[in-house]
Amino acid sequence: MQYPAPGQPGAGGPGAILPFRLLFAAPRRAAARPASPTLMHLRYLPLLALALPACTSPDTKTADSAVAVADARFDRFKNQLILDLWKQNPDYASAMGFHKYDSLLVIPDEAQRRREAAFVAQKLGALAGFGFDSLSASNQIDYRLLGNELRAQRWYADTLKSWQWNPASYNLGASVGDLLAGRHYPLARRLRNISDKLAQAPAYYAAAKANITGPTREHAELAVKQNEGGLAVFGPALADSVRKSGLSAAEKQLLTQRIAGAQKAVQGYIDFLKKDVLTGKEFRSFRIGKALFDRKFALDIQSRYSASEVFQLAQQHQAALLHDMGRRAARLFPKYCAGQPVPKDTMQLIRQVIDKLTLKHAPREGFVDAVKRQIPTLTKFVNDHKLLTQDPSKPLVVRETPLYMRGSGAGASVSAPGPYDKQANTYYNVEPLPPTWTAQQAESYLREYNDYTLQILNIHEAIPGHYTQLVYANRSPSLVKSIFGNGAMIEGWAVYAERMMLEAGYGENSDEIWLLWDKWNMRSTLNAVVDNLIQTQNASEKDVVALLTGAGFQEEAEARNKWHRATLSQVQLSSYFTGYTEIVALRDEIKQKQGAQFSVKNFNEQFLSYGSAPVKYIRELMLRR
Ligand code: ZN
Ligand code: ZN
Repeated sequence: MQYPAPGQPGAGGPGAILPFRLLFAAPRRAAARPASPTLMHLRYLPLLALALPACTSPDTKTADSAVAVADARFDRFKNQLILDLWKQNPDYASAMGFHKYDSLLVIPDEAQRRREAAFVAQKLGALAGFGFDSLSASNQIDYRLLGNELRAQRWYADTLKSWQWNPASYNLGASVGDLLAGRHYPLARRLRNISDKLAQAPAYYAAAKANITGPTREHAELAVKQNEGGLAVFGPALADSVRKSGLSAAEKQLLTQRIAGAQKAVQGYIDFLKKDVLTGKEFRSFRIGKALFDRKFALDIQSRYSASEVFQLAQQHQAALLHDMGRRAARLFPKYCAGQPVPKDTMQLIRQVIDKLTLKHAPREGFVDAVKRQIPTLTKFVNDHKLLTQDPSKPLVVRETPLYMRGSGAGASVSAPGPYDKQANTYYNVEPLPPTWTAQQAESYLREYNDYTLQILNIHEAIPGHYTQLVYANRSPSLVKSIFGNGAMIEGWAVYAERMMLEAGYGENSDEIWLLWDKWNMRSTLNAVVDNLIQTQNASEKDVVALLTGAGFQEEAEARNKWHRATLSQVQLSSYFTGYTEIVALRDEIKQKQGAQFSVKNFNEQFLSYGSAPVKYIRELMLRR
């Protein structure tokens, strides 16, 4: 899910996986088939002996009622905290389905930053007043999530300071586009909210301009692109909506004036970036360096592992995947390359087989349609193989990615309804190939998303990946877990879902689909590797592209796209591999523990039932049962 395009820098869209603070600072036949040899190599994790205390207190009843009292108090605290947060973060609230503050536009100025700092200090103080041990397991997780979130917000604002150097933090078009497209209120009411919001547009962009200090060139360029896309929101379609709405003549006139004012403010910001910022000679490096990266990793990922450990694990996994690819390519070679001499070099052998497999792909104009057609097949497979229970009342709507969300390098993403409006549509955003691309660029992209890989992508983004996980997350009784979704768990689930489907026999357990899954999984593995290399080890574009097109077997366009994305985000690219590794380890641990009793369906449903919490906390709860 990209979701967002999960965590897309400055995307500002309704990405349910967007870490809250990104918006705060500114505006994701298991048992029948033995695990593939590749995966056998993946047992990095020692099976931990269960040392969690059992509930054997002689005063169980007293203890239970004490927990109930503490929980009730904590529930009140966290519900109030969330309501307070929404007022300061109306865009994020709206993205989560809480629409009370849709008409507010927060001006990202110094006064606002002081209010946020005071808010965090006050809430952290209140949090410290709760006895952690007195809470239920689920609330203990919420306690940790809230503490982490509050501390992360301060770190983002005071230490990372992306509100200064990331001009793409500011994009009014994105938030207005979401309000306009929302179904929560009738058109007239949505337009009134938009009108109130747009009245603040000049102040909003004035504050944005004042905030920009030592920006990176990459984020400034992204901001131009996204705000130009955002400008489209204030175009003829909006004027059309105003005309046909039930607003009074006076309201229409006022709104029309405000739209013109917003257009001018957005254009002024774009001009400022182009003329004053991008013409400058000195830019901050987009690389945040090891100290900031390690800390950001700890705050964003909340893994059992450190950033350095994940870097090591990813390199080991890279070797294991390569081993499996060589084995499968050797078996496929006679079928696809009959009569040709077998290359002595394994990398060459793998590449030659992959080059044949990727010839099958969607036509340039039919990419979005190809995605659309696959969704029912995936739904049926999950049902037929009893992998988990699906909810047919929550349909997935495949659409072309809205303009204001394009340009951040994510070809597909899921925009899901938040915990407050579970009835809203879940969108699977698929970006059509840009018309500006040459035939060669398009071919490169289409081969990357060939017929096999496109199925894996759809599993990842949609069913039973991000979309399915989000449906479960919205059922979770914990608002905190639904809101402060853990990116690594969300991305990890989507990657785990791919493997789980293939293990259940999706793709007929063929060497073809496994080889391309290995290649695909190599991608999330190398995401973790290059994230660290680029942000902390000064890796060059040339070296990164060489790694991705070499060991990663990626097409050049994909590799360049990844480089681009890795310059705009930090840590997020490590989340896929980290979460996946933790989930597979947990599944193996539970399988070991339950033996013949183990059921994939039970594991999946139980795992998802806790919402988007860090895997390490879900593990604690699942092992305690
Ligand atoms: Zn994903
Ligand atoms: Zn072709």
